[in-house]
Amino acid sequence: MEKLQNFIDGNYCAPVEGQYMDNFEPATGKVYCQIPNSTAKDVELAVIAAEKAYPIWSGMSIDERSKIMVKLSEGIEARMDEFVKAESRDNGKPLSLAAHVDIPRAVSNFHFFATAILHYASESHNMEGVGVNYTLRKPLGIVGCISPWNLPLYLFSWKIAPALAAGNCVIAKPSEVTPYTAYLLGKVAQEAGMPAGVLNILHGQGGAAGDAIVKHPKIKAISFTGGTQTGEYIARTAAPMFKKLSLELGGKNPNIIFADCDFKDMLSTTLRSSFANQGQICLCGSRIFVERSIYDKFKEEFVSRVADTVVAHPDDPKAKLGAVVSKPHMEKVLSYVELAKEEGGTVLTGGERVIMDAPYEEGYYLRPTVIEGLKFDCRTNQEEIFGPVVTITPFDTEEEVLMMANSTQYGLSATLWTSDLKRAHRMADKIDAGIVWINAWLVRDLRTPFGGVKASGVGREGGWEALRFFTEPKNVFVKY
Ligand code: NDP
Repeated sequence: MEKLQNFIDGNYCAPVEGQYMDNFEPATGKVYCQIPNSTAKDVELAVIAAEKAYPIWSGMSIDERSKIMVKLSEGIEARMDEFVKAESRDNGKPLSLAAHVDIPRAVSNFHFFATAILHYASESHNMEGVGVNYTLRKPLGIVGCISPWNLPLYLFSWKIAPALAAGNCVIAKPSEVTPYTAYLLGKVAQEAGMPAGVLNILHGQGGAAGDAIVKHPKIKAISFTGGTQTGEYIARTAAPMFKKLSLELGGKNPNIIFADCDFKDMLSTTLRSSFANQGQICLCGSRIFVERSIYDKFKEEFVSRVADTVVAHPDDPKAKLGAVVSKPHMEKVLSYVELAKEEGGTVLTGGERVIMDAPYEEGYYLRPTVIEGLKFDCRTNQEEIFGPVVTITPFDTEEEVLMMANSTQYGLSATLWTSDLKRAHRMADKIDAGIVWINAWLVRDLRTPFGGVKASGVGREGGWEALRFFTEPKNVFVKY
């Protein structure tokens, strides 16, 4: 069976303690490779390599750094097919999704930051007749990037690319559940001519390798995307060490539909925003609020479209939904369906596991699920499920829907459907969220700030925000 390796100091290597863990294929439920179960000793090796590489990488001209990163982006593109297949196999997502979203967006992330750094200027503040301030923005040194399993390479690159572009050396850990494309990235870094030790990729468990990254005194910043509870732990651990922290955490996003919306556009986008990637996107709109006058029409058409949605193994071109990422996750999602029933909800469609024909009979497939009849403040409507499960709830007024939308601990994104421009602006202003889409969903412009409020996180990724995070400002004053 294939054994993945860590990528440290420009080379693939076995974990120091020689321990490996199984990696499951969600589509079949079977182990298909093993990954290093890294420990603090592997993190130490990576830190030594990164320390050695830092003067080389941070001392390189921005132009040279940019060229290597452009090559990295092109290297992924050149191996598109290999990356797409690996992502789909590792995560369970339809091949078409990996081909149209995950891998192309990872390519764009590297390309964007490789070129953004060429335009990144620092400020100067003139004091008439007194002197001038100029602000240097220096890289931080060694930084840690920890990412989740839902959009594996895409979110990995969203952190690594700005960190590298700004001149930092990186120690990164993908989720233990989806390590494969991060593993492949090492080869691309070698081919792109990235100096040894600049990018180090470790595999293993969050509580071991991840924790060792968070606790290492020489790692100056942690950029983390994952669950709110893990984020809380990381903040507790890293904050007393005065590390810079960027935390992109969970969400329970509202999708608010007014009667005056473009119904057809709303319906097809709502299908995607509910179930894309098996509902495992932090931006999915899992709480759908519908203005009462169109509630029945929406319910009938939405439920019928959801019931017709094809759940199939990821290689099937007809698959709209593939497998969810792991057995424990599938069980967690199903337990929320049971909770919803206990809380008085009615399952309108879905709510169960799908057993496929061999060889996929042990895969983790779930029918997309729509539930109604729940109170806005019940657990099903307050806790993150992170699977193909949405609730639908009618509302009568703007005030009422705002109150329900803002009632959770989260505040990542929100979607609004209306043709009333004034209302759209009014609502966008009042919704607790870092990102609001009006008559759209998941439209991304890499220059815009990305992140959440409340328990959805601290800090922003994207554009200048990311480059600011991965640099330290130093103000210098010169007297005239
Ligand atoms: P987790 O929080 O379980 O894990 C995220 C990453 O952190 C993984 O690499 C994990 O490793 C690692 N980790 C776990 N424990 C620790 C620790 N103690 N110290 C350091 N690292 C640790 O999240 P999931 O992977 O389950 O991802 C799903 C979550 O991510 C959802 O809540 C979702 O909303 C959120 N998310 C947020 C996004 C955003 O932009 N706001 C975007 C995408 C997802 P391991 O896998 O080995 O446990």
